[in-house]
Amino acid sequence: MIHTLFVTGMLFLISFQSFSKVPDRSDVVIVGAGLSGLTTAYELKKAGIKYHILELTPHIGGRVRTVTYKMNGETLLADSGMEEYWESNPAVKIIKELKLPLREDVAMSSIVLEGKKNEFIEDTQPQYVAKLFNEEERKALETFKKTVSELIPKIVKEPIDIETLKLKDISFEDWVKKQNLPKKVAEWIRISVECEAGTEWNAFGALDAIEELAIFLGDGERSFRIINGNEIFTNALTKKIGRENISTNQRVTKITTKDDVVTINYLDVTTNQSKTIKASHVVTTIPLFRLNMEVQISPSMSEKKLEAISTQTYGSYFKAHIFVPSSASTFWNKNGDSILPFLTDSELGVIYDGNPDQKTKIKIVSLLITGERAEGFNFMNQDQVREILKRSFERFWPGFSKEIIGMEFYRYHPRAIAGWPVGRSRFDELSNEIRRPENRLYLAGDFTEGTHSSGAINAAFRVVKQIKDAKKNKK
Ligand SMILES: Cc1cc2nc3c(=O)[nH]c(=O)nc-3n(C[C@H](O)[C@H](O)[C@H](O)COP(=O)(O)OP(=O)(O)OC[C@H]3O[C@@H](n4cnc5c(N)ncnc54)[C@H](O)[C@@H]3O)c2cc1C
Repeated sequence: MIHTLFVTGMLFLISFQSFSKVPDRSDVVIVGAGLSGLTTAYELKKAGIKYHILELTPHIGGRVRTVTYKMNGETLLADSGMEEYWESNPAVKIIKELKLPLREDVAMSSIVLEGKKNEFIEDTQPQYVAKLFNEEERKALETFKKTVSELIPKIVKEPIDIETLKLKDISFEDWVKKQNLPKKVAEWIRISVECEAGTEWNAFGALDAIEELAIFLGDGERSFRIINGNEIFTNALTKKIGRENISTNQRVTKITTKDDVVTINYLDVTTNQSKTIKASHVVTTIPLFRLNMEVQISPSMSEKKLEAISTQTYGSYFKAHIFVPSSASTFWNKNGDSILPFLTDSELGVIYDGNPDQKTKIKIVSLLITGERAEGFNFMNQDQVREILKRSFERFWPGFSKEIIGMEFYRYHPRAIAGWPVGRSRFDELSNEIRRPENRLYLAGDFTEGTHSSGAINAAFRVVKQIKDAKKNKK
């Protein structure tokens, strides 16, 4: 059977249809229309401060992307970028404020441990934990969680004390080994954290990883997904901000501050015309590793900021959408309940239901592949990736590969999410320097605060507060 996939980004069309003229001046210019830029504008609007967003691509949302597939007369929706929000993510509050439809899930996932598949089919989490671990392992896990819960308040306290800060200098792997946990518990911790960090546990420091573990404490945080995809969120923010205040296809190339005026040079990539806009403040949300490569900043950023940027690292993600007939959902639906997400610790990464809210004849299984495996796929051709995934599925769910109708791949090369290597941390002095405004330039985006969308949103809250304070002090 031959099926044709028509891949269209809904917002891609919307962006082209509604061209917004860039004004000559605005109070605040925001560079980038990802979650951080959109949230900055949303909060500035609440504060009654004028803004304009310049976005390089035709797409509003940055790494938030929901793909619309038309297949066999059906419309299928699946996220090719960010997926879910943990309960403590400030995005959840905004999503609720905007009254957007959410689906909710518990923190624990099905997982492959010591080569054995463990499906989360129990009614409650304690029942599942009792299946995963024996009594000794459960006790060790509880002790570990206690250690972590005592450390977290110390990590987030400002200023962080010197002893706690030292945890940045030991890898998360070495720190977990020092806790003398049973092998199976240590493996559960490794697999749960590596997919969040998008990298292997020896590559990042214990300090940041321990703070990430907050989502697993107690019974764990609930996770949320927006029904029918995350672009519903960025669409709703766009509506609140006003589409006329966002200009797409505009590449910012230079930011110059003189006295109390910032001049932003940008290139209209559809006409190749270079233009300028003036502002009192400029917020950039460009992932930091790209900022210096793409934008000239004058006067240049402090030495410390440059050092902070050059010593950051990153996590790698590769996404695959796998199309199967809905009858194949028996592979992941057990007794009427989904056992997904499944942390496979293999080339399949984390298996999600790609379109859980759609009762369609074709279903999408979404794979979030992380770390070295993602980097490997980033450098392979499509045929190689397809063959590896088919073989891996056959080992994981015998018979599943015959059900596959098609696949689509989404690469996030060279860097998908922010990371801090051993020796660095988002809680250290260099990271504080990144967050210090300089020459009316404010750095936002997830790379300035954290690994995930929570970092993007928290950065937006920070810069809006800093701008409000600067206005109060008439800086
Ligand atoms: C595959 C994948 C899955 C993920 N899953 C999750 C998840 O489940 N949960 C979670 O919380 N987070 C997740 N994340 C992370 C989350 O997507 C990001 O943290 C968040 O979207 C970052 O938003 P941002 O606005 O900081 O950056 P971006 O979304 O990258 O926005 C930056 C914007 O700046 C624009 N830009 C760049 N250069 C210029 C220029 N010179 N001029 C003008 N504009 C420019 C870019 O085009 C982009 O639109 C995931 C990320 C990926 C890649």
